[in-house]
Amino acid sequence: MSLIVQKFGGTSVADVEKIQAAARKAIRAQRQGHRVVMVVSAMGKNTDALLGLAGEISEQPPAREMDMLLSTGEQVSVALVAMAIHSLGAKAVSLTGGQIGMKTDNSFSKARIQSISTERIEGLLDGGNIVVAAGFQGIDDDLNITTLGRGGSDTTAVALAAVLGADACEIYTDVDGVYTTDPRLLPEARRVDVISYDEMLELASLGAGVMHSRSIEFAKKFGVPIHVRSSFSDTEGTMIVAEAESQTQPVSGAAMTPDEARVTVLGVPDVPGKSQQIFSAIAACKIAVDMVVQNVGKKGRANVSFTVPSEELGATLAAVESVMKAVGADAITHDDQVSKVSVVGSNMATQTSVASRMFRALANAGVNIYMITTSEIKISTLVPKSQAALALRAVHEVFDLHQRPQDSQSWSEIKEVRGDKADVDALVSRLRDDALEALTLTGISITEKQARVTLHGVPDEPGVAADMFETIGKAGIFIDMIVQGYDGDDGSTSVSFTVDDTALQASLDVARAILAKHGMRDVQGGSEIAKVTVSGIGLRSHTHVATMLFQQLAEDAINVEMINTSELQVNAVIDAKRAVDAAEDLKRAFAESLL
Ligand code: ADP
Ligand code: ASP
Ligand code: MG
Repeated sequence: MSLIVQKFGGTSVADVEKIQAAARKAIRAQRQGHRVVMVVSAMGKNTDALLGLAGEISEQPPAREMDMLLSTGEQVSVALVAMAIHSLGAKAVSLTGGQIGMKTDNSFSKARIQSISTERIEGLLDGGNIVVAAGFQGIDDDLNITTLGRGGSDTTAVALAAVLGADACEIYTDVDGVYTTDPRLLPEARRVDVISYDEMLELASLGAGVMHSRSIEFAKKFGVPIHVRSSFSDTEGTMIVAEAESQTQPVSGAAMTPDEARVTVLGVPDVPGKSQQIFSAIAACKIAVDMVVQNVGKKGRANVSFTVPSEELGATLAAVESVMKAVGADAITHDDQVSKVSVVGSNMATQTSVASRMFRALANAGVNIYMITTSEIKISTLVPKSQAALALRAVHEVFDLHQRPQDSQSWSEIKEVRGDKADVDALVSRLRDDALEALTLTGISITEKQARVTLHGVPDEPGVAADMFETIGKAGIFIDMIVQGYDGDDGSTSVSFTVDDTALQASLDVARAILAKHGMRDVQGGSEIAKVTVSGIGLRSHTHVATMLFQQLAEDAINVEMINTSELQVNAVIDAKRAVDAAEDLKRAFAESLL
């Protein structure tokens, strides 16, 4: 008999009528012959209301008590949903996170799932019940109630679908699927039939709030197909599966994180290990750092810039302050009036001029780009908060995201939606004794024969990045990584990019021409570098990956020239002569997590 997990978000259980409608959906599925597990969120804005209440009592409520409080929202809804099912004539039992054996670590408000015991759920299903499980919550070794982080009910649902070997995981929400960008921000956004795990993982992590990014880590790891659909209609929504919608379109979605903060640590001594000290202090607070850019400035001192969610700015600054002395850096600056606008697409890596098209669109809209980072399937830009909406619209338009790609696949065409069952079972049983959400790495590799070009003193005005990368594109040079960040003192930035080492000379020629045209300070180029790549699932949310990478390279006295991070990869550009050693040592350091 097939098993379906149905998750209902806050708006889908916001009042009595909606609770009854959700109950009817579950009963209908059961009558169609499925075993049904529901995962339910707190009613409407109840979680926000509880947060507000706590805020009235204490400025910094103890984390444990906060989770105790927030978990009550879901407990209310599961009981009401179970009652609704009973009154409609079917059998249901509600269960809290503790009662479904949802064991987590003890990091309150960001707890990670370690294991789920399925016996009780299976027993209840065997007895003809619909199981109504509370989303977002778990229990630690000491029986403390924990929560998984805002939006975490998605993760409960997909994790349950994974361990129960569900045939489908349906996410019922207030939109009828995944759109090319948040339809509330951009009405011209298009609903997509299919999106790949990788794209959804990046989009969710870059601000697409429709799915909790950690739920997509589970889906990818265990091959769970997800169907995101409206709780208010029966229309088919979006399938999140291994394949992408199109094999050709360079960009499949755009996302914005409105509330970002940029932090720059000035005058970091440019010796191995210094950045690592900064990032381990931040990672220890489980804060996910993004857009890391390090520029070597004057007198062997570097400026290290990165972004964090603005709500984490206070904690981040405190963490950095605590190591300033040990690091020997000069000062910290920050800006919390910035937003991150990103594009994601799994075909991006094989196409030229995707970045320059994005930068040109932003320039035409008059948007100033403060920082840039790229990785294999995403490009992120940091822009002034006041221009973020404009920027999102501009990038959505330039990549024609409102239009269905010509080679688009509808989800009925996606055949093998679930991963190989044997593989999945093996993975689940291997991870069950250990930790379901533990870091999973799929490989550590080296790309040799790379070269880097850096332009210093890039003027802080719209259009420079666009001009630069268009010129490079016209010269037929294929670019891999791009990073742009603060040079420091005068508001100017520096831009670095990597190319194949055979393209170094041509790239330097172009860079010199651009330098002359825009009145920049200096061009530097160097070959004999290599890129070390750590690949896996959920690398950004596992905040220790970048730290461990930095730490290992520091131990080997290897300087990191450039770095980029995404959910799928962390890349570090280092001295080519040391690359083989570095990769071997990293394999050893990450042995536990390597599949
Ligand atoms: P739920 O309470 O059901 O979990 P959420 O509010 O967490 O619902 O997620 C649904 C919301 O996500 C939508 O109302 C929409 O505004 C927002 N959203 C953000 N990005 C996207 C996107 N790319 N596609 C669809 N919805 C999105
Ligand atoms: N109720 C929690 C929240 O509002 C979890 C969820 O809805 O996914 O964040
Ligand atoms: Mg949600």
